[in-house]
Amino acid sequence: MTNSKPVKKIILFSDFDGTISIGDVGNRLFDYFSDGRSAVPVERWRSDLIDSRQCLIEEAETMRDITEAELNRFIDQFEIDPAFSDFVAMAESYQLPLYLLSDGLDLYINRLLNQNGFDNLTVFANRAKLSNGRLEFSWPYFKNSCGRCANCKKYHLQTLCPDDAVSIYIGDGKSDLCAIGEADVIFACDYLADYCKENKIEFLPFDNFSTITDTVRDIVSGLTTIPGGDKR
Ligand SMILES: [Mg+2]
Ligand SMILES: [Zn+2]
Repeated sequence: MTNSKPVKKIILFSDFDGTISIGDVGNRLFDYFSDGRSAVPVERWRSDLIDSRQCLIEEAETMRDITEAELNRFIDQFEIDPAFSDFVAMAESYQLPLYLLSDGLDLYINRLLNQNGFDNLTVFANRAKLSNGRLEFSWPYFKNSCGRCANCKKYHLQTLCPDDAVSIYIGDGKSDLCAIGEADVIFACDYLADYCKENKIEFLPFDNFSTITDTVRDIVSGLTTIPGGDKR
């Protein structure tokens, strides 16, 4: 791969659950260890009755006590999009900063990333650790919350993306809504794609990271102009 200079400063942001990971690890984890009882707070969060911090706290309360081994065995079943490694390599070759933004938990994100050889990625997520069979949380970014998120992605886009740079955001779900209002280019699938369509927000659809890698490479090489880049 040639190591050409970026034509314009581009900063990449991506969600983790259901975007980089195949399946929503956080949601499935609570569901599994609560025998489905976590669906109650999740539904309240989907209906905007509680914020995501309260949702995570209540989901954890529905879980039975678990061991570290059980937890790790569960996490290790999940896979990373096989095309993600080419995306990371592309970002490195063009020296594009890449930030992972998650309103989920560092506990499974870091484990899955490390196990799949992605040790050096920058992740902003809520923190959790297992203590005496229970999940113990800390909320490093809650002070910057919008009132709906525990770790609001809007705040990270605002602080990590200078005005003269182009932000590219990749996501799939409800926790990405705060990010897409800030992003110059949006890649969306599933819930987020439907939301963008309904609200007439311009986005690029994707099934996996290979489409995204190709499009970002075309943007960097000047083969594609920034979609929607002039509407902000
Ligand atoms: Mg997601
Ligand atoms: Zn938010």
